[in-house]
Amino acid sequence: MIYRKYGQTDKEISIIGFGAMRFLDEDFKNGNYEKCAELVSYAREKGINYFDTAPLYCDDQSEKILGYAFRQMKKDFYVSTKTSTHVTGDKTSDDVLRRIENSLSRLGIDRINFMHLWCILDYDMFRGYTQKGGIFEGFLKAKERGLVEHISLSTHANGDDIEKMLETGLFEGVLLGYNATNFAFREKGLEAAKRLNRAVVTMNPLGGGLIPQRADYYSFLKQNDEDTVAKAAIRFNASHPEITVTLCGFSTKAQVDEACEAIKDLKPITEYEKLQIKSHLKASLNNVCTGCGYCDDCPKGIAIPKLMDAYNQYIITDKKEDIMSRIQNHWQLREENGGALECIACGKCEKACTQKLPIIKRLEEIASL
Ligand code: SF4
Ligand code: SF4
Repeated sequence: MIYRKYGQTDKEISIIGFGAMRFLDEDFKNGNYEKCAELVSYAREKGINYFDTAPLYCDDQSEKILGYAFRQMKKDFYVSTKTSTHVTGDKTSDDVLRRIENSLSRLGIDRINFMHLWCILDYDMFRGYTQKGGIFEGFLKAKERGLVEHISLSTHANGDDIEKMLETGLFEGVLLGYNATNFAFREKGLEAAKRLNRAVVTMNPLGGGLIPQRADYYSFLKQNDEDTVAKAAIRFNASHPEITVTLCGFSTKAQVDEACEAIKDLKPITEYEKLQIKSHLKASLNNVCTGCGYCDDCPKGIAIPKLMDAYNQYIITDKKEDIMSRIQNHWQLREENGGALECIACGKCEKACTQKLPIIKRLEEIASL
């Protein structure tokens, strides 16, 4: 295992992290926590020392499952969990404190190493949470009381907004979605974290399963014939020196092995290799949004990159229902059809689109769902 320092802290963290949101239904729904705990301790034996969970994961059982595993393990690992109003319903700083106490009790630990302000979608949402009287005060109180060691940001915002949020100095690290398909959307956030010496934990290296589902599209990521596309996608993230941890949602020991194999003989990715991947994305996925964000200035305020990301799911899986599921569950856009109905077809976004995508037509399709 390779370890990297978490931002300005003295913590050495494994570059592969355990995302505790994919325990098998057949195990935890039947109360078989023992089987899940075996997976957790197996990962620890392989050198993984970063465990990321949250309330609500796995039918709200993930923290409890980890707690069951941790009670049987030596306490030589780090734990990350999360909260925010729009996901967990914590409206006040006292709610946050209660949430943290509950997480501690479920996890069976005295202190949360990395507490995340969860799922920040843009800068306005961030400002709401961090203003005077906002829930962020609960995070600060928890830190003062020693319940939390470090406060971090978990976000799906674009690179510019991530940069602004990190520049406030409120966070020691950032957790963001980053993978071989969407990396252009967040590169600026990564650069800002590097400049400010903040840790970066990436989630979703397999694009929510999209990359291995279309192994043919993504075969250009592979280094040799024996490589799997999943391994290549994990290596893509881990090979960024500025990424501290690549989180993988594990269900099986074989997946833990695959992630550990992916980082054997790891070399830092070069700018040239990133450019090559971008050009492959255009060549082999030329009808897919790369998340660059250049179109993100709609006069009607439509979150175009998010809606085009949702449309990507349809292109890859051929299932239209995947569009709405991505809009609502991942992006949490609550307006009807994610706001696609508001489009007045002014054409501004299509002019800016680096992929020359038929955005207006795609929005019409989304609006008709
Ligand atoms: S065409 Fe529609 S989505 Fe694009 S900028 Fe104009 S109003 Fe916004
Ligand atoms: S729709 Fe086009 S411009 Fe907008 S984020 Fe996607 S690729 Fe970039």
